[in-house]
Amino acid sequence: MKFTARNILGWLLACMLIRLGFVRKALKKALEGEYMLSIYFHNPSKKEFETSIKWLQQQGLQLLSIADLEQIMLKQHTFPKGGAVITVDDGWQGNETNIVSVAETYKVPVAIFISTQPVQDGTYWWSYLAQAKKLNLSPPPVQVLKEVRNEERLLRVEEYKKKINLVREALTVEQVRKISKSKYITLGGHTHSHPILTNCTDEQVFFELLHSKRTLESWTGQSIIYFTYPNGNFSEREITVLEELGYSLAFTCNAKPIASDDLRHEFMLPRLGFREGASFAENICRMTGVWQATLRKLRYPTRRNNEDSVSMASPPLATSGVAFK
Ligand SMILES: [Zn+2]
Repeated sequence: MKFTARNILGWLLACMLIRLGFVRKALKKALEGEYMLSIYFHNPSKKEFETSIKWLQQQGLQLLSIADLEQIMLKQHTFPKGGAVITVDDGWQGNETNIVSVAETYKVPVAIFISTQPVQDGTYWWSYLAQAKKLNLSPPPVQVLKEVRNEERLLRVEEYKKKINLVREALTVEQVRKISKSKYITLGGHTHSHPILTNCTDEQVFFELLHSKRTLESWTGQSIIYFTYPNGNFSEREITVLEELGYSLAFTCNAKPIASDDLRHEFMLPRLGFREGASFAENICRMTGVWQATLRKLRYPTRRNNEDSVSMASPPLATSGVAFK
């Protein structure tokens, strides 16, 4: 855990939630088949990822692949008791050591969703803003650029790209090829340049979804049919294009477990975000959905459970405390 005031407060709240039995109750529901856990990571340390996999297995949960999930969706398998799905977004360079090697050691399926431009160029666009801030170049906050038209975001980021050199952060093409051969890893799409899709034009959306799919397919020789929305932003338009291009399911950042009803919307599957750097107690609460449900209750005390569903185009719970990626 990184010792920040935020993480220490998070640890205290998480310890209280665990002590009050919320995690035990959430696990019981998963083990009885009321829902499946759907957990996503970005760039965890090996210790964070390994501890999480071990903990999930110790609780009696069975990790399923996305292909298993698809079969459940197509009703070729019954809805499982104690099922959990692990997804990873972006394609960070550390994923090979910190995720793929752990998946192989513990023989658990993991799906990694890759943005193809960072693999080609080495870096993610928001890292230029973070570095510019460290260098006192007064960049706009990342959050601001997540809310403007895509062209404007590109122009603003370009200013800092000219001034800043970053070391490689993303997997290389060679690494992508190598990990695609692991029988425990499924690769999926996460756009080409990692834009906020809802800020893009129709042409840009089409390009982002098609070009990344074709590029990943040419690197790996595998069909790319699964997808995660960058930052969790999507609308009816993105779903239509995904369908047209032959994708078969997509994950959002709607922070809840997957109930059988959620499987009726294959392009809107929910996920619970792991927070890298936070305490393991907080992440136990996150992986079981207890953390996100508690925050929702604190934010919207009068809202009923069935009103928690994500709204397209501007998902209010998209980030749910997880740093943007
Ligand atoms: Zn991402």
